[in-house]
Parts: sequence; C-alpha cells; structure tokens
Amino acid sequence: MNTSIAIIGAGLGGLTLARVLHVHGIAATVYEAEASASARPQGGMLDMHEHDGQAALRAAGLYDAFRAIIQTGGDASRVFDKDGRLLFEDGGSDGLRPEVPRAALRAILLDSLPAGTVQWGHKLTGATALGGGRHRLAFDNGASVSADLVVGADGAWSRVRPLLSPDKPAYTGTTFVETFVRNADVLQPASAEAVGPGGLFALAPRQGISAHREPDGVLHAYVALRKPLDWIAGIDFSDRDAATARVAGEFDGWAAPLRTLITGGDAAPVARPIHALPNGHRWERIAGVTLLGDAAHLMPPSGDGANLAMFDGAQLAEAIAAHGDDIEAALAAYERELFPRSAAAADDAYSVFDACYGDDAPHSLVDFLKSVAPAA
Ligand SMILES: Cc1cc2nc3c(=O)[nH]c(=O)nc-3n(C[C@H](O)[C@H](O)[C@H](O)COP(=O)(O)OP(=O)(O)OC[C@H]3O[C@@H](n4cnc5c(N)ncnc54)[C@H](O)[C@@H]3O)c2cc1C
Repeated sequence: MNTSIAIIGAGLGGLTLARVLHVHGIAATVYEAEASASARPQGGMLDMHEHDGQAALRAAGLYDAFRAIIQTGGDASRVFDKDGRLLFEDGGSDGLRPEVPRAALRAILLDSLPAGTVQWGHKLTGATALGGGRHRLAFDNGASVSADLVVGADGAWSRVRPLLSPDKPAYTGTTFVETFVRNADVLQPASAEAVGPGGLFALAPRQGISAHREPDGVLHAYVALRKPLDWIAGIDFSDRDAATARVAGEFDGWAAPLRTLITGGDAAPVARPIHALPNGHRWERIAGVTLLGDAAHLMPPSGDGANLAMFDGAQLAEAIAAHGDDIEAALAAYERELFPRSAAAADDAYSVFDACYGDDAPHSLVDFLKSVAPAA
C-alpha cells in the first residue's frame, strides 16, 4: 500500500487502529501529545464487552493477551441506596464483560506495535489541506509531516475534528470527582467490604458514588454531582482537605462506608466535568480525514466509550485493508456504519447515565440492571 497514514492520539482507539492495520501488513504512524507511555497514570478499570471491545481485540490478534490481564471477580456489581441498603447484586461471571486495568490493556497494544510506530511528544497544533486528500500536520515540537490519511483519535478535545465538523463538546450538567482510597482492606475495611471484588453504585436522586476495586487494594471512585460548572469552579481542588470537605458535604447523612470513599483517601480529589458531543454527531465526507472514538462521538460515560473507540479502530483498519489504496471508499464504508452505531450507543449512554444520576435513582438503575440481566 502506498498510502501514508497518520493517526493522531495513542489512546485505546488509535492504538487499536494501528495494531489491526499492522496485522494486515499496513504501516501507520501514531502521533501522541504525551511525552511517553508513562507520562500520565492511565488508571481505572474497563469492562470489555464481547460485541465491541473484545471483538476488536480478536481482530488485533490480542485476545489471549487480554484474557491474561482480567481481574477475577471484577465484573461483580452492587447497588446501594444512600443509607447503605443493598438493592441489587450481580456476582458477575468474567464472561461477557470482564474487567481489566486500562493501563495493562494499553500496554498490550503498545507492545504489539513495531518500534517507532508511536511518536511520543508530538502534540498536533494544526492541519492544512494540501489538495487531493493530503494534509500537512504541524506539531508543538516544531515537527511537521504530510499524510494521505489523517485519523483523529485524539479524544474529547480533538484538534482534527474541526477539519470535519464545527461541533464542540458541551457540559452535560454532571461532574465526576475522582477519589482513591489506597490499602483499603486495611485502612478502610468497611468501604472495601461494601465495594466487594468488583464495583458498587451508591445512589440518590441526582448524585451518587460509583467505585471499583483496582489491583493492590485500591478503591477508585467517581463521585457524581449534578452541579453547574461555576459551582465546581468555586472549589479549590489543589487544597485537598477543603475540596474533600466541600464534596463530602454534599453527602452528609450517607452511610459511613460510602462517605468514606470520598473522605478516606490521601490524594486530592480531581474534578472531571462530563462533556458530550451532540447526539448523532456526524459530518460530510472530506477527502483524507476521519475520526474515531471520543473525537467522533464523545458521550457520557456509561461503560462503553473505550470499547467503542477500540471497535471503531478495528473497523476502520478492516475497511482500509479491504479497499487498498482507495482511501475514500474505505472511509465512506467505515463512516456508513460508524454514524448509526455511535448514535445508538449515545442513546444507550444517556439512558444509563440518567438511570444512575437522574431523579429516580437508585431505583431507576436497579430496574435497568434487572432488565438487562441474563435470564437465570
Ligand atoms: C470518568 C470516566 C469513566 C469512564 N469509564 C469507562 C468505562 O468503564 N468503560 C469504557 O468503555 N469507557 C469508559 N469511559 C470512556 C473512555 O474513557 C473513552 O471513551 C475512551 O478513552 C476513548 O478512547 P479514545 O482512544 O477515543 O480517546 P482517549 O482515550 O482520550 O485518547 C486520546 C489520546 O489522544 C491524545 N491527544 C489528545 N490531543 C492530542 C493532540 N492534539 N495531538 C496528539 N495527541 C493528542 C491524548 O493524550 C490521548 O492519549 C470513561 C470516561 C470517563 C470520563
């Protein structure tokens, strides 16, 4: 193949694209803003779904490597109300939705690529159309390259997206505050017991805590608050104690093992305002450029975004392999399936998000989980 392919972003989506292209004998270069693979903690557990994330890993020839990093029992889940009453429990099976650490998954993808595929420390700052579908890419380190195909796999705040679409992510009205409780079985045993081997949702109308057990006894929680951005901006998150007290103040009266997921850590909480692109985000075909993952369809977290990004990457690679140097045919085929797939996923994401953090929580989530539970 004579086409030069530049993938912007070494997240799970961009790396899956590069890997599946490599499986098909097609070279690509991934340009990543961060300085190295370890520049930022990747954190978090991801459940890999059979129909998208796992399918992508099969296409990447990495299914066995993925099975080796599954956290046993990690897919168990519980739903509590604010008083600590257990409303729903699913013991999990590690079958359909096994949980893996995001960092380990990313490492498998990185290790599967030829040396030099990822160019670290290359933050895209601009892209100029050269005609004929080619683009000139400029990076913050002064480098520039041209490519026949540019794939924006650069996440929520994509610098590639403006080539295709004027849309920008908008605040959803919900902010997650991220907390960690380390050595929890020893230091916060009641919280560790509540979380169990997998994860919990502790919910009340319009607020909640979702927490997951990570390797080495770490409890990683997202504290969800439906608040305007200026309320969040009014908290000084660099002041650990003050920020923790302000967030925990919203959970006064909650059962102690749940509230301790906010107060029992030793690190400053981190605010993560949740943004989303318009539902059904799409664009007209423009030669030589496309998007995948969050860059294409940022949606509220519902446990599927990373899976979707990986599936997009695998699908795009398969389309390129099938169409050879006819890149426009490959992109048209990829986008024909991408748009309806991501619109349906966004609808699902809003339903799950509302079940978790809407006016009827926690019962809305319990009803949802019962409706999707496999028949006994
Ligand atoms: C709080 C939270 C919890 C979540 N939990 C889950 C979950 O349990 N399961 C799940 O499936 N999904 C989950 N998601 C969603 C998931 O994290 C994303 O959908 C997924 O990471 C998207 O992958 P991506 O490859 O498209 O983008 P990203 O993972 O964002 O990767 C983009 C990459 O591009 C790089 N980059 C950005 N700008 C530039 C630039 N200008 N130049 C070069 N490189 C650049 C970034 O450094 C990054 O490495 C969650 C999201 C949030 C916010």
